[in-house]
Amino acid sequence: MNHPFAGRSMAVINDFTRDERRYVFTKTRELKEALESGDPARIERFRISDPDFGIYEVFLEDSTRTKESFKNAAHFHRAKLSALSSESSSFNKGESYKDTFINLAGYDNRIFIIRSKLEGVCRWLENALSDYSRRHGLSWKPSFINAGDGRHEHPTQELLDEFTFLEDNSWDYSSIHVALVGDLYHGRTVHSKADGLNVFDSVQVDLIAPDVLEMPDYYVQQMRRNGFTVRTFPSIEAYLQQSHIADKWYFTRPQLERMGDRVLKRKDELREMITFQHRFLSMLPEGTIFYHPLPRNKENAELPGFLDPLPLNGWERQSANGRLVRIILVGLLAGLFGEDFSGKQHQEMPDVEDYIETVNTSDRPAVKRYSEGVHPIDEGIVIDHICRGDTAQEIREHMGKIVSILGLHGKGGEWVSTSQESREKFKGIIFRPGHRPLSEKEIRQLAAITPGSTLNIISAGAVKEKFRLHTPPRMYKISGLSCKNELCISHPDHHEGVDPHFIKTDEGTMHCLYCDESHTFKEVWR
Ligand code: ASP
Repeated sequence: MNHPFAGRSMAVINDFTRDERRYVFTKTRELKEALESGDPARIERFRISDPDFGIYEVFLEDSTRTKESFKNAAHFHRAKLSALSSESSSFNKGESYKDTFINLAGYDNRIFIIRSKLEGVCRWLENALSDYSRRHGLSWKPSFINAGDGRHEHPTQELLDEFTFLEDNSWDYSSIHVALVGDLYHGRTVHSKADGLNVFDSVQVDLIAPDVLEMPDYYVQQMRRNGFTVRTFPSIEAYLQQSHIADKWYFTRPQLERMGDRVLKRKDELREMITFQHRFLSMLPEGTIFYHPLPRNKENAELPGFLDPLPLNGWERQSANGRLVRIILVGLLAGLFGEDFSGKQHQEMPDVEDYIETVNTSDRPAVKRYSEGVHPIDEGIVIDHICRGDTAQEIREHMGKIVSILGLHGKGGEWVSTSQESREKFKGIIFRPGHRPLSEKEIRQLAAITPGSTLNIISAGAVKEKFRLHTPPRMYKISGLSCKNELCISHPDHHEGVDPHFIKTDEGTMHCLYCDESHTFKEVWR
């Protein structure tokens, strides 16, 4: 499959590079113009026109716009559209996602559009069904489009949002100033903006949300990593008291169905802080446009009805654009167009850096001897510098974890001592006299559990081999790992058989491949 888009998935917005997204927008613009022209020949070029091309909608949470716009997009393509009814499917008999989708792919369906409460479902299925395609020698692999997964992301909403911003920016990619208002904590559409907005060269984002609805730190950091200027405000009222006000406002509703009791109790007060009031109108810069992924609640709308007829209403056009970007996305994943794309393509993350550093011991014959108390160690292993700088209590707990995960039960002890560089800093040491040297797999596992430590293999009273262990760029296929996000598809409570998988960020934290939850290296251990 050499086509730049055919058979790909979109689990998060970052699955398409900025060049690829710009290509999507250019194509969408061409489609919109073709439709406006009414010229059947121009329009026809955008259709798959294959009644056997299978598109499947699987919506396990409610939806109007996303579901119906994909349905309308599939009708436009004159393709075969099916929908799995979740209430009467074998999900209710305890069938896993993987088994369910292997069956649906077996009926020759190429594109799956999935909305779920669980997070990271599309990433998991993309990987699991690539294996399925290989096993069955298929010339194609199914595409998975995330139509919203829990509080995580909503990448196709992001596409239509960006497309609409661009229309209103007269197709100028150089800069954008946008205020994101409302439930930034639970709202997946605003989470996708942390990467999505980088389609613009220069980005200023103002986050307007009361304390309990603030944007999760991971996404704020991601915006900063992407070079955005980010400011935060607790309410619309507070935002309007300063003078640098955005000309694009993106509203989101309070996601009551995802809130716990503690937050729900405050819903009226919170709503007030993110609802636009008539008296604010005169404070807006000229030409301001409002957007909303919708729905808005008919009794308590953040965007009250008095705004509907005003020129700042951008949300109706935004919603209509949803069908258009989805027609283009489906066409690209089907391989109908896209061969002429020439920008930067998305690439799998390579596992380049080595995290097991071998320390040369041969030119230092007088390396220190390890003694456990008064007993010098002649043969065995010593793991040193464990959790340097943590409290004695934390170090002891972590050493317990290392022993149990690596099965280092048996002779020897665990000590907490002060580090050589500073008497104030503690470190842990595990002594295992007589223990066989660890295998390569065990050393990699040890690096994952306790990066920063050293492993010493002792023979004839001297350190024969010494390894300095760094944080691995990825952690997976190691027993004992678990994502702490209970909504993640890889969380053990869901019994989906998903191998937890973490990727190291530049800051040294580990983020989950499926749901993007960020963890310290200690938190990834069950
Ligand atoms: N329709 C959007 C979503 O599915 C926004 C929302 O529900 O508030 O995420």
